[in-house]
Amino acid sequence: MAVEKTAVPMREQTVEKRIGNFNEVPLGYSEEEAVKEAGRCMQCVKKPCVEGCPVRIDIPVFIKALKEKDFQKAIDIIHNNDSLPCVTGRVCPQEEQCQAVCLVKKMGGEPISIGRLERFLADWDLANRKVTVTKRDSHFFPAEETLGKKGIKVAVVGSGPAGLTCAAELAKNGYDVTVFEGYHKLGGVLVYGIPEFRLPKAIVQSEIELLEELGVTFVTNALIGRALTIDELFKEGFEAVFVGAGAGLPNFMGIPGENLNGVYSANEFLTRVNLMKAYQFPECDTPVKKGSSVAVVGGGNVAMDSARTALRLGAKQVYLIYRRSEKEMPAREEEVVRAREEGIDFRLLTNPVRYIGGANGFVKQVECIKMELGEPDASGRRSPVPVKGSEFTIDIDEAVVAIGNTPNPIIPRTTPGLKIKKRGEIEADDDGKTSIPGVFAGGDIVTGAATVITAMGAGRKAAAAIDTYIRDKRENK
Ligand code: FAD
Ligand code: SF4
Repeated sequence: MAVEKTAVPMREQTVEKRIGNFNEVPLGYSEEEAVKEAGRCMQCVKKPCVEGCPVRIDIPVFIKALKEKDFQKAIDIIHNNDSLPCVTGRVCPQEEQCQAVCLVKKMGGEPISIGRLERFLADWDLANRKVTVTKRDSHFFPAEETLGKKGIKVAVVGSGPAGLTCAAELAKNGYDVTVFEGYHKLGGVLVYGIPEFRLPKAIVQSEIELLEELGVTFVTNALIGRALTIDELFKEGFEAVFVGAGAGLPNFMGIPGENLNGVYSANEFLTRVNLMKAYQFPECDTPVKKGSSVAVVGGGNVAMDSARTALRLGAKQVYLIYRRSEKEMPAREEEVVRAREEGIDFRLLTNPVRYIGGANGFVKQVECIKMELGEPDASGRRSPVPVKGSEFTIDIDEAVVAIGNTPNPIIPRTTPGLKIKKRGEIEADDDGKTSIPGVFAGGDIVTGAATVITAMGAGRKAAAAIDTYIRDKRENK
């Protein structure tokens, strides 16, 4: 069978235009483009792409329905395994997952653009979604009579992808679910981390509204461990608790000058911009420094997002300082390409050794050292080794440190008997069961900083385990 080897390209904002706004960069497929791209799929019997998908979406089947223009059927197939496709269609690293093993790629062509097709369907669904629970003809909503029938309360801590997915699955199963979120806005990293130009906040909001329609109750400004402890949630009548509190504690390098004014953690920088809309200051209450020469340290998605955000805030020069080479960068390939297109100055095999401040207490330079790659370390990547005597300085007026996060510690600290690992992650098995009966956990709080889809997968598995736990408990009463 002859296969079209080139993927249908996705239109996007031009570089000149996009660096001057916070709007989404890729513009999505039209119906015609999506159907054409779907037509490239070979409908492989062995479905390697499904194996490559962490939540095992039946990819060829949804692509076939899309090709036949049965969009409702196609999105329903996706919803069977993925309750946030308009998020995953945009931010999943498909190039390392389903698309990496696509047979068309193995045959020398460009893989089927599975993520773009998923995004098309999810956006179609958002535009065509029927607003009331009872009228909607889709598996995503249970029949009206199952809603709230069980009258059994389950608490979900955290409204990131892990918590939202767990809440959706439990609500679909008829439980009374309450999500407690520490921040004033729902969505976790999807709203306070990933910038608008990669994931519009309105999309996350629509997904949350869908959960509200499903009967999920959301309580914001409710930091569990402070406002209420896990023990108190049980006393309030919740029969199980899912902890999806994420990994929001930023790491620093521990080098001199990190406490100077103008040196931010990526968490703080992105939260100020995304969640508090600091780019609209003074119309909004929260300021953020708009540096003119900004150093961003790191090579992951968070670093790329910070660099491109600094650019959009008006920086003339943005340096991305990364201690390994581009090959080892953990960021998504397409975001690296876009950052380069936008003029981010990649300083690879380079590591900061100290920040130097001016008389006003603000950072004015970063001193760096050149690195070379040595033997592979525990992660399998060649470890960077400093090159003696290669120090040099770069003039900056702002720095953003994006070298990873560790789990939020409040819940482990306030929940006696909850076992944690060395770096603070909650110990949980594959189904999310922790050391305390009735307490389940999943997402970044268990794995450390990972991906949206793994967090969603964990939320889904935990919801099934919570259902079993509650049924068993009630039967054995
Ligand atoms: P989170 O999304 O962190 O959500 C946890 C929620 O719990 C937060 O809202 C937090 O406020 C709340 N919370 C914490 N403690 C409490 C408490 N005690 N009480 C109540 N609420 C609490 N992944 C990808 O797959 N693709 C990407 O392109 C990508 N880009 C990223 C870019 C950035 C800038 C960042 C920071 C991460 C990125 N990731 C990406 C990673 C991905 O977003 C995370 O792996 C994912 O969000 C983890 O989901 P989660 O639900 O476990 O936690
Ligand atoms: Fe289609 Fe690629 Fe999956 Fe084969 S591997 S079914 S070509 S998406």
